[in-house]
Amino acid sequence: MSIDILPWHQAALTGLLSRRETLPHALLVYGKQGVGKVEFARAMAQSLLCESAEDGIACGKCPACGWFREGNHPDFRELVPESMNEDEIDADALIDPEAKEKKKSKEIKIEQIRDIAAFMTLTTHRAGFRVLLVHPAEAMNPAAANALLKTLEEPPPHTVILLVTDRIGRLLATIRSRCQRLMVPSPGEATALQWLTAQGVAEAPAALSQAGGAPLDAMAFADAGYQAERKAFMHLLSDSNADYLAAAQMLEKSDLANVLTWLQTWVSDLALSRFTGEVRHHRDQKAAISRIATRLNLPGLFRYESQLRQARRSIHHPLNARLLLEQLLVSYSQAIR
Ligand SMILES: [Zn+2]
Repeated sequence: MSIDILPWHQAALTGLLSRRETLPHALLVYGKQGVGKVEFARAMAQSLLCESAEDGIACGKCPACGWFREGNHPDFRELVPESMNEDEIDADALIDPEAKEKKKSKEIKIEQIRDIAAFMTLTTHRAGFRVLLVHPAEAMNPAAANALLKTLEEPPPHTVILLVTDRIGRLLATIRSRCQRLMVPSPGEATALQWLTAQGVAEAPAALSQAGGAPLDAMAFADAGYQAERKAFMHLLSDSNADYLAAAQMLEKSDLANVLTWLQTWVSDLALSRFTGEVRHHRDQKAAISRIATRLNLPGLFRYESQLRQARRSIHHPLNARLLLEQLLVSYSQAIR
């Protein structure tokens, strides 16, 4: 028995791994959000390093698989922005969680590329492959990308570099041109629903539609606390007499990115409902959405939609979360008036 692989990855992975001796040195792994691109790249890395792979896929039992699982296989490195590195314990962050967000970089820096120079050039420990995984690749700042470019131009033997990206267009053209592209397939609806149900997601169809068909996002959305918060927020949006200032105060501690996503998908559902009578994201709120949509002023809704897009750009460093929420909710009440 080999490792668990997301079912919609199986065919593509097996195909790739069956030609492991002729793999390109660098693969640019891309695909829709929430289809498991990093999971795909990790399964591929583990399978390349496994010392008793079955049909190309990692066995999950050998010592190499054990080291990989524990995060200390000597021939594997994973580069992520500092802000995504959960393993490091930061004393300041324990005292003040906000300090952590401010301090930790969202970029992959040149120092990180330099730090793996020895890893990339010395002989491999296990006489097999050496694998470097970088994600999200677009987080490399220009200096880091240029430093990696040198390795991509003269790759060491038996080395596979996996660059995972959500936004292929944000990468340097020189990086893109030196990698072979690999699209991680999206599952069909039936496959995604079957997988979600197997993971214990009770309302799989609703979770999948909220996630725009992306199963891994749907998993996160299915979390009960998240659902309760979403429903309370939807209730607020459908109540024309809501006290938006009080609501902004309550929402201050919520995840701003979630709140913004709810607002954007709600607005998109309002527009869709107005034109077609259908909703795409919040199917459980169809009646409320349709009620608001019929009396909408469309130009106002579109202006609001562009305000939301602007807010999205500053979401990770808002000067004042409560003020931003107040503005967005007050503008919402004007937009649907
Ligand atoms: Zn193994």
